[in-house]
Amino acid sequence: MELGQDDELDKLRERVRQLASRHAPPRNGRTGVRAPEAHEVPALQKWTRMLFEHQLLGVHWPVAYGGLADPHPLHESVVTDELIRAGAAGPVGGGLLAAAAIIGFGTVEQQNYFLPKIRTAEHIWCQLFSEPDAGSDLASLRTRARRDGDEFVVDGQKVWTTNAHHADWGYLLARTDPDAPKHAGITAFALDMTTPGVTVRPLREITGTADFNEVFLDGVRIPVEHVIGEVNQGWAVTTASLALERSSAGSGASLFGALERLVQLAGTVTRDGRPAIEHDDVRQAIGGFAADVQVNSLVSAFGDSRALHGTGDAADAPLSKILFSEINLALHEFGLELQGHDGVRIEGDARVWDSGWWQDAFLYARAFTIAGGTNEVLRNLIAERALGLPR
Ligand SMILES: Cc1cc2nc3c(=O)[nH]c(=O)nc-3n(C[C@H](O)[C@H](O)[C@H](O)COP(=O)(O)OP(=O)(O)OC[C@H]3O[C@@H](n4cnc5c(N)ncnc54)[C@H](O)[C@@H]3O)c2cc1C
Repeated sequence: MELGQDDELDKLRERVRQLASRHAPPRNGRTGVRAPEAHEVPALQKWTRMLFEHQLLGVHWPVAYGGLADPHPLHESVVTDELIRAGAAGPVGGGLLAAAAIIGFGTVEQQNYFLPKIRTAEHIWCQLFSEPDAGSDLASLRTRARRDGDEFVVDGQKVWTTNAHHADWGYLLARTDPDAPKHAGITAFALDMTTPGVTVRPLREITGTADFNEVFLDGVRIPVEHVIGEVNQGWAVTTASLALERSSAGSGASLFGALERLVQLAGTVTRDGRPAIEHDDVRQAIGGFAADVQVNSLVSAFGDSRALHGTGDAADAPLSKILFSEINLALHEFGLELQGHDGVRIEGDARVWDSGWWQDAFLYARAFTIAGGTNEVLRNLIAERALGLPR
């Protein structure tokens, strides 16, 4: 099967391109999954609403909540891919992840209340999972939720929370039974971020922007009706939404644009008085990246194809994600190297190439090797689950 020759998907790609070229808000020259500045949020909410209205997102949701009766299994991964290729933003916040949990495990009341507001982007969501001592080993999380009548009282700290400073709701994991085995005593909640006791502190990162936050939870009261799924069964809820996060990473669509920029850069910067691209070693390196980008794209498409035919294995998604993130890092490192001393300049400096795009992309590239499971942990996963090696 050739994924590129699927008529339905080709038409879908064209629809995304058209919509993005007409309506996507500008991305202010940043790469990756970045939190917007406050003034950019309304335009992104409008854009998110449009993506749902045009049935580009949420197509796998139940029909009653706006899903399609018979969506193509690759519909949403193709949409994500095309948005990235077009340099357009995706939906604002973590609404899709929260929706996966609510559709899979939420009550009818929760589905009726939350899903329409995710579609219209009236609610922006964040994901309150990671803690200072619980990232890769998420099940060791220590934020506590104690039952008190019709409420839970939550104390603890989260970190790395993308978009918490814009979020109306948080998809929270907290420990409800400290005596149970660690995966068994966790519960998932929908947390109203305006509840007293929630403190959000943006973290300024190496890129100079603040995409993540620390979130402190001090005596935060959550009504029992905002438990998602059963009490102490939060791990199953999380597994469903994390699978979605991992599967959307690593298609490598952004690498094609980065490669084009690299070729342009190599034709512009000079080395020994000649354009860098005229040097054999530079041309060979660029040729190598072009091959890597194609391989990544094919590995990802192959994984999609196997998933479609039910023949995929546990290595497919981790492999694509590792490949993408490591090619991405190496490509941007090389782009900075080509700039020589000018590579240390940053956005706003005189004579910085591409308005500082390369520096931002280089610094952000590390994030892709960590987000959605670090590459080390994913390698373990391939070894244990796909190759059957001992733990
Ligand atoms: C761009 C981005 C966005 C994010 N957004 C969110 C968000 O919105 N909400 C949220 O909850 N979290 C978010 N995260 C956090 C992310 O899930 C964690 O960073 C990730 O799970 C790793 O956890 P950690 O940072 O605590 O590192 P640790 O787990 O402490 O790992 C530290 C180092 O040890 C290595 N390591 C750990 N365990 C093993 C092992 N068993 N074998 C070999 N090596 C190991 C890791 O690979 C890593 O190099 C985000 C992260 C990034 C980069």
